[in-house]
Amino acid sequence: MTNWQQAERFMATTHEVENQPPALENYNLFTRDTALQEALKREGASWAEASVYSVGELAGRADTIRLGFQANANTPQFEPQDRFGHRVDRVDYHDAYHQLMTVATEHGLHASPWADPKSGAHVARAAKYYLHTQVEAAHGCPITMTFAAVPALQHQPDLAKYWLPKILHNSYDPRNVPDTEKQAVTIGMAMTEKQGGSDVRANTTRAYPVKKGGPGQPYELVGHKWFVSAPMCDAFLVLAQTNAGLSCFLLPRWRPDGGKNPLQIQQLKDKMGNVANASSEAELRGAMAWMVGEEGRGVRTIIEMVAMTRYDCMIGSAAGMRQATVQAMHHCQHRAAFGAQLIDQPLMQNVLADLALESEAAMTLTMRMARAMDNQQDEHERALARIAVAVGKYWICKRTPEHAYEAMEVIGGSGVMENCIMPRLYRDAPINAIWEGSGNVQCLDVLRAVQKQPECFAALLTELNRAKGSHARLDAAIAVLPQRLEQAQQQPFFARQLVELMARCMQGALLQQHAPIAVADAFCNSRLGASEHLGYGRLTDAAAAKQILVRAWPQ
Ligand SMILES: Cc1cc2nc3c(=O)[nH]c(=O)nc-3n(C[C@H](O)[C@H](O)[C@H](O)COP(=O)(O)OP(=O)(O)OC[C@H]3O[C@@H](n4cnc5c(N)ncnc54)[C@H](O)[C@@H]3O)c2cc1C
Repeated sequence: MTNWQQAERFMATTHEVENQPPALENYNLFTRDTALQEALKREGASWAEASVYSVGELAGRADTIRLGFQANANTPQFEPQDRFGHRVDRVDYHDAYHQLMTVATEHGLHASPWADPKSGAHVARAAKYYLHTQVEAAHGCPITMTFAAVPALQHQPDLAKYWLPKILHNSYDPRNVPDTEKQAVTIGMAMTEKQGGSDVRANTTRAYPVKKGGPGQPYELVGHKWFVSAPMCDAFLVLAQTNAGLSCFLLPRWRPDGGKNPLQIQQLKDKMGNVANASSEAELRGAMAWMVGEEGRGVRTIIEMVAMTRYDCMIGSAAGMRQATVQAMHHCQHRAAFGAQLIDQPLMQNVLADLALESEAAMTLTMRMARAMDNQQDEHERALARIAVAVGKYWICKRTPEHAYEAMEVIGGSGVMENCIMPRLYRDAPINAIWEGSGNVQCLDVLRAVQKQPECFAALLTELNRAKGSHARLDAAIAVLPQRLEQAQQQPFFARQLVELMARCMQGALLQQHAPIAVADAFCNSRLGASEHLGYGRLTDAAAAKQILVRAWPQ
């Protein structure tokens, strides 16, 4: 044997790879999620079990998981002009992004409750969205915006008549061609400007009537937008000023004559998260748009879309927490340290159970809101959704970044590496909290809701009182709420304390009614009362923690 051959042999046998987990793939995200299965039934969509099962299976497949990595590694590219100098404003996405969009639309995540509005339709869609976005969250942005645009667009029946059939179509057409040539379209939104995002009243974009003006009529828009996500959407709901004030418009990417509508993209944002999705800065240079709803009541019209995007933020962030929990648990099952599997180490059990608890609480509240969406004809459900979506959007999105970080730490050094999903979950985690009403704005919205519609707070209390007597800390926390509300109404300085307590009470009450006692009591003991939650791994009941783990990740 030559020296070289000998060296090669040694190189090939330096070590065996041991104590590393197998890749978490080819599993069904739905069948491994007991709490979600229960929620689907409880909230009224047992009929959708088979189709949710399929989405869970697809989301766990190795090739689907790979799409998520590919779509994020190959970020969208902007081409302002073609090689002949014509303005094209084109954004090219990797094929993996298009495939994810195709899966999402074929399963109706962009429209199913509007296309087939039966009892439990929102619940079924929420469950599917929850499973599918665990693979990749960024492409959820245009899916959500398309879904959310429908209630706003219904304010303008003449426009809705043309656009709705294309929005509701269960397919995805990424071609850069006029909407007239498409069966299926996606819809974006453009509200935020440089001088004001939360405060859209500061918008300066002007709308000039082409003819007489008014609802359903064409206008030309001149101004700019600081954030336009998914700029290849076929049309956008946009806010612009008329003489009567801020109004809502539908702005297609193409003009009726087949020419390009001058919504000119200036550049793509260089984002830390949500990178598979493009977000752009744009100028409107006389772009044609049609007024949606009443002139001067644009916020009122577009708020219908905003409300639905906020609800989807709950689903998306709850999904991020679930995926982080699953990754952490899978790792610990297959990794040993100091002579025992990590999953059997008492302190790790505390951390994992605490992560699982937060995740289940987020999903449970989200699915309850899905039922409220399904029952908007019911006064209680409508009032509850008005307040509890704002509460849930604030709290679930707020809890996600810390949750992602903690799950990443569970995985150790490998959890920081880009070939693990954790860095992506971590970078995506703050986006939902900031987008569509940042934390403070949500808390102030809760106060506004109660001020304008006092029945919202009454609905919340009715809902909470369904769990009355189940846990002393929950009862005590609910009893404090009116006082906290009064304090925050007088001094918005205290609005976060109010909304956080509302969120914990909602989650605690739902878990007390529907989850096993180990889950429900661990939640109330750790997150209500004297020992309000400070971080993960501070549960006090070791036996309950073990039960929580078995539930969270059944083998
Ligand atoms: C990835 C991404 C994609 C986006 N895509 C879109 C899009 O497609 N279309 C679109 O229109 N927008 C989009 N946005 C913009 C987003 O909706 C805004 O960033 C958000 O609404 C906040 O607005 P702002 O950035 O102007 O911040 P500001 O409004 O300046 O707010 C800054 C901070 O002040 C707080 N604040 C505001 N008012 C008060 C108050 N009265 N009291 C206390 N605190 C207050 C806010 O909570 C926030 O924390 C996107 C943002 C991101 C991050």
